[in-house]
Amino acid sequence: MTKKQQVKKKSTWSWEPINPVDNSPLFDWPPSVGKVLTWAKKNYFSISIRMFVILLALATWLIATPALESCREFSLGWITYIYVRNLVLIVIIAGGLHLYLYTFRRQDDKLKFDFRWMIKGNKLFSFRDQVYDNIYWTVVYAVSFWTIFEVLFMWAYANSFLPQISFSSNPIWFIMLLLIIPVWHSMHFYWTHRALHYKPLYDRVHSVHHRNISIGPWSGLSMHPVESFIYLTSIILHLFVASSPFHIVFHLQFLVFNAVIAHSGFEGILFKEKKILDIGRFHHQLHHRFFECNYGNQEMPWDTWFGTFNDGSEDAMVKIRKNRIL
Ligand SMILES: [Zn+2]
Ligand SMILES: [Zn+2]
Repeated sequence: MTKKQQVKKKSTWSWEPINPVDNSPLFDWPPSVGKVLTWAKKNYFSISIRMFVILLALATWLIATPALESCREFSLGWITYIYVRNLVLIVIIAGGLHLYLYTFRRQDDKLKFDFRWMIKGNKLFSFRDQVYDNIYWTVVYAVSFWTIFEVLFMWAYANSFLPQISFSSNPIWFIMLLLIIPVWHSMHFYWTHRALHYKPLYDRVHSVHHRNISIGPWSGLSMHPVESFIYLTSIILHLFVASSPFHIVFHLQFLVFNAVIAHSGFEGILFKEKKILDIGRFHHQLHHRFFECNYGNQEMPWDTWFGTFNDGSEDAMVKIRKNRIL
């Protein structure tokens, strides 16, 4: 190892997971039922981001979504209601995480991947401030497209323009969709993200997101409007498969809050020195640091299949450094 490599090695991460990054076992071959059940228990039946989003979507659907009958025509009342509700949710969740981890530094730098905190005084960022820059792109564009998609689907369901099910009419498919949506999103995200790394698109569009090398909760949806729109087009799945307005609320909240929480920059939340919740995804943190790897997420192993997977291990790092130095 050269001197230059040794220096880089020492300063790569403030914290890195003990085990290398791994994909979900959903597409392992030969299949392992045991591994899939353990993975499902961790994601769907424990305190996890996914469980949180399912419960949040359920609460939103039950107590903070206009009645479907009132959405037959576009009118300012119910559309504004959805917009304000989405805005309040993102301020509470992204803002709350940011205050906890970055403003009040409640767990200092414990489990924080990157050495750096949010950047101030750098003209790379709008308002010369990373946090204000990230809030601007999130609130102005991402929340708007999130609301527009939700409004269009509510309107389409209210007018019976789309195939629709309910829990009582088709309970198995209703639940199955909650498992299918993250897998579909994983495929959509990999391919749209790879397209965004095509140089002309990267320079004009995706570079806004990649201003953030050290990331925080507000970085998750800090995207150029073209990217925000493309990212949320994952929702078109419901044009083709019978779903319900609840699935729309869940799918959009999954896209939004998965991004927010996965970008938090910390591996987990600590309580009395013990990790009680996984939040940041080292898999994606590696993408923000090294760019040409981990375009997808861990749900579906697209990166492994196309040779762009980086598990964060020392071997993978040595390979990357070697390619960069050459
Ligand atoms: Zn990102
Ligand atoms: Zn990227």
